[in-house]
Amino acid sequence: MIRYALTCEECDACFDAWFAGSQAFDKQAEAGQLQCPQCDGTHVVKQVMAPSVSGTKKTSGPDPEKVFGRLAAKARQHVAENFDYVSDGFAHEARAMHYGDIEHRPIWGETTAEEREALADEGVPATPLHPAFVPRAAPDDKDIN
Ligand SMILES: [Zn+2]
Repeated sequence: MIRYALTCEECDACFDAWFAGSQAFDKQAEAGQLQCPQCDGTHVVKQVMAPSVSGTKKTSGPDPEKVFGRLAAKARQHVAENFDYVSDGFAHEARAMHYGDIEHRPIWGETTAEEREALADEGVPATPLHPAFVPRAAPDDKDIN
């Protein structure tokens, strides 16, 4: 059994759900059987995480809500162009960077709920990517390494 941290793309609700395995998740997602407990939407995706970058703290500037749409498009592009997609290897990569085993680089990928909690416990900086910031063209082929 595997517990995934999930996000509803329609209402941004975050919740956890159990699956027999990652393939069970994919199957149910494809069949539209995943449902958001909050809005009953079926656009439910695995929560993706990115390391929080120091120095980019949200400053009090213009109303973030107003610029959000523009920002989301930019952020998607930025993530797609500058972040390495590490799929479900995110926790491993983030941890290696945190402990100095590998060089820091921007990455994004998927975590299970357990991994997310473990990273938080260890103080490894990682933040959930807002669903709107996730590049639509998430690479599906796992052959790229
Ligand atoms: Zn929802």
